[in-house]
Amino acid sequence: MNIQQKVSQTLKKIKLNKKARIIVALSGGKDSTVTAYLLKKLDYNIEGLHINLGIGKYSEKCLKAVQKLCDDLKIKLHVHNIKKEMGSSMCYLRSAIQSKQKTGMLKNCAICGVIKKWIMNREARKLKADRIATGHNLDDEAQTYLMNVFKGSPELSANSGPITRNIPDKKFVPRIKPLFYVAEDDIREYSKKKKFPVVYESCPCALGSYRIEVRKFLNTISKKEKRNIIRNFEKVFSKFKKDESKGINYCEICGEPARNKICKMCLLMKTR
Ligand code: AMP
Ligand code: ZN
Repeated sequence: MNIQQKVSQTLKKIKLNKKARIIVALSGGKDSTVTAYLLKKLDYNIEGLHINLGIGKYSEKCLKAVQKLCDDLKIKLHVHNIKKEMGSSMCYLRSAIQSKQKTGMLKNCAICGVIKKWIMNREARKLKADRIATGHNLDDEAQTYLMNVFKGSPELSANSGPITRNIPDKKFVPRIKPLFYVAEDDIREYSKKKKFPVVYESCPCALGSYRIEVRKFLNTISKKEKRNIIRNFEKVFSKFKKDESKGINYCEICGEPARNKICKMCLLMKTR
């Protein structure tokens, strides 16, 4: 099966409606670029959302790449600027947060991930989106699952899948991952063959992250084994009964959906 067929099958599995308004989170990297290209090719109703992280030349290149992609695909692009909203770039925010953290030090990518997700949900909701699509691929998902296993908390992956399995809520825009079953190597090859405008270098802030260590290990196993990690995870969690008694809370500080009284984003900002 080629990439397009795999994506098409995944979208059928999650019953994605052709009329749904989908906001594709575009980073400028290969994964979200291929995601947008295939969704458009398969005739879905998409627009792009790029978060400009303000990381010097790297962010400038990413912005140019997504602008070119959206021009090529003839889709609307929304750009959200972190510096404008928060007063500083992602690098600065991250080091300010880290310098105040006493215990349970969050690594670079984890902090950036929390902030990006919070912005994505709020912006997509403002844009009246039915779904947010991200470029997460098979390797990302296998990494996340293994990281959770190594931390002793595999249940943290319970909501993961080609579509988030959270309890439906008017303030939460479900996230979909059309490339959930596609290996990273295949995406890179496809993107290069199609000559997409893509920034291939990794984010200069992605240093010393635990994910990078797990990725190194995963690079020593085959695609089939990576697929089996996902298969294990799906088998286990299909048997898991979700605890829906808690429902979704709204953060007491920002009002965004949260698992606890205060959302992860506001907890981070309090340490700033
Ligand atoms: P990452 O967490 O960097 O591995 O990115 C995972 C997914 O999040 C990407 O495939 C994109 O869909 C989305 N994403 C990451 N960075 C950005 C960004 N700066 N703007 C919009 N979406 C992003
Ligand atoms: Zn909050």
